[in-house]
This record gives sequence, C-alpha cells and structure tokens, in this order.
Amino acid sequence: MSHRIVCIGECMVEMAPQATAGDYRMGFAGDTMNTAWYLRQLMSADDTVNYLTAVGVDATSDAMLRFLADAGIGTDHVARRADQTVGLYLIQLTDGERSFAYWRGQSAARTLAQDEDALDAALNGAQMAYLSGITLAILSAPDRTRLLNRLAAFRAKGGQVVFDPNLRPRLWDTIDDMTHAVMQAAAVSDVVLPSHEDEAEFFGDTDPAATAQRYANAGASEVVVKNGDGPMLTLCDGQTTVAHPKAVPHVVDTTAAGDSFNAGYLAYRLHGGSVSDAMAQAASLAARVIQNRGALMTVSDADELFPDQVTRA
Ligand code: ADP
Repeated sequence: MSHRIVCIGECMVEMAPQATAGDYRMGFAGDTMNTAWYLRQLMSADDTVNYLTAVGVDATSDAMLRFLADAGIGTDHVARRADQTVGLYLIQLTDGERSFAYWRGQSAARTLAQDEDALDAALNGAQMAYLSGITLAILSAPDRTRLLNRLAAFRAKGGQVVFDPNLRPRLWDTIDDMTHAVMQAAAVSDVVLPSHEDEAEFFGDTDPAATAQRYANAGASEVVVKNGDGPMLTLCDGQTTVAHPKAVPHVVDTTAAGDSFNAGYLAYRLHGGSVSDAMAQAASLAARVIQNRGALMTVSDADELFPDQVTRA
C-alpha cells in the first residue's frame, strides 16, 4: 500500500551568513517543511508527501514552490495569495553564536486555514496529517479552530493526526494562549512528538514520563518525548519504552534535530517498524543532521535507515 502524508505549516526564506562578512545565501526552511523534506527522502517512491501552506504570486514564492517540487514534495495544495508573500528569517553570527531575526508577520502562510473546502481537499485520501505548534501559532484564532475541526473530521474518517508541539512563546500573545492551543491540538492527535526541555519549562513536567502522560491523558495513543542528548521516552498504548541516543562527538548545528527525528520516527512506523526500532532510526537520523550545518541535508543512503528485518507495507 502506498502512503499519502500531508504536512501543514509555513516554509520561509532563510538567509544564512557566508564566509565573507555581509554575504548571505538564500535557502528555504521551516519546521514542518523540514520534516516533509526528510519524510520525502525516507518514504518509498510511490508514497506521496504533500505540503499544505499559502504563498504569494511573486518570484520568491515561485522559487519556494520550485524548491519544494525539486525536493519531490507535492505542492498541489499550496494556495496563492496575490496581495501577500512568504516569510523570511535571517541568521546572524556573532562570535560564533547564531541569532535569528524574523519577518513573517504578514506572511501568506498565516492564511493557510482560511478555506474549509481547501483543507478537506488537501486531507482527502491522505493517511497522515502532520502539523506543529508553529503551524497553530501563525493562524488567527478562528482559522486555528477551523484547522483543528477539519483534522478532527479527518481523524474520525480514519486519518492519523500527528502533532509536534514545538513551543515558541515569542509567536504567541501569552503563554496561556500557547499552552491552551497546544492541548487543543493534542486532543485531536493520535501521535504527539514533544521535546521534554520545552515542555518542562511551559507545562512544568518533572520528567519525560510526565510529558508523555499529559499528552496521553489528552487522547494521544502514541507520545514520543524527545530529550536532546538525554534518554527519550515513548508511551504507546500504555506501554513505556526508553532509549538513549548515542553520543555525537561533535555537534555542528542542532537546527532541525527534532524535525528530522520526527520524520525518521514516522517513516519507520509507517513502514511497519516497532516503536523501539523507530526511536533508534529517528535518533540516528537526527544525529547525522546535527553534525551537518543547516536544517536540510541529503540522506543519500536512506535505505540504511530501513534494515531488512522491517516489513514494508
Ligand atoms: P528539538 O530540536 O525539537 O528541541 P531535541 O533537542 O530534543 O529536539 O532533539 C531531538 C533528537 O535529536 C533527540 O531526541 C536526539 O535523538 C537527537 N539529539 C539532539 N541533540 C543531541 C545530542 N547532543 N547528541 C545526540 N543526539 C541528539
């Protein structure tokens, strides 16, 4: 059986500093798009990975869509808005430390959930829908409700909803708005993939088990708690599995650690892998990504991530 996955969120222009001061390289990135990028590489050729967002009609928006298409990510459900364009962020390097400036207040992606029929059309026939707390943060409150309602309907028809809370307080008016929306999304999700450090800060979880239990209580049947270089934990249908990521000798750039981990985990599970094997595969992909500069890397030997003993659906 081939799979169809729809990733929902915002892809932005990324301006990354180069060796010569003042020179920047233009690229594209964004949490849900990073996950789509890795899913596309890990899934089989007859599987489909679509991106659901909104962009402008300008040359930069065209370049973004070309980039997605070149990566093999489906763009049929990307809305075009004549009066808007895409968001942008710039990475500043100061004494080797990275900081980020964002221009995304008016980005077209903020309108991605304006149209109920368009959401249903994108989800129709898909097996899995993937979104994050950043997806929720950029939407107006009515659009957020519309998106969660359509995801609930998708789930009621047998679709699987996957959610990474990706807590970013700067994108929300208040911490309460953020935590409330995140738990609303968890309530329509089957799989939740939080990062313990953030969850501890904003929900007061004492350990990864507490994070997992809170999302399980909200209704998720599978919770995978990432934990940097510490022990990660999965709570799946009441069964707890703990795994320790292998040490990485030299961490170059942790951007997209969680996004790539999610893709590795989901791809492996979709191909029938066990929870503990999926954690191992996800951690090994994330370990490779953090030894590489930037969010996106080519996983040329993706087949290694799927050892022979795993049954492909
Ligand atoms: P996020 O990027 O969402 O904050 P984490 O920092 O928890 O997510 O990292 C996601 C995964 O990446 C971890 O579960 C682990 O597998 C891997 N990882 C992150 N940092 C390290 C590290 N320093 N050493 C080894 N693995 C790491």
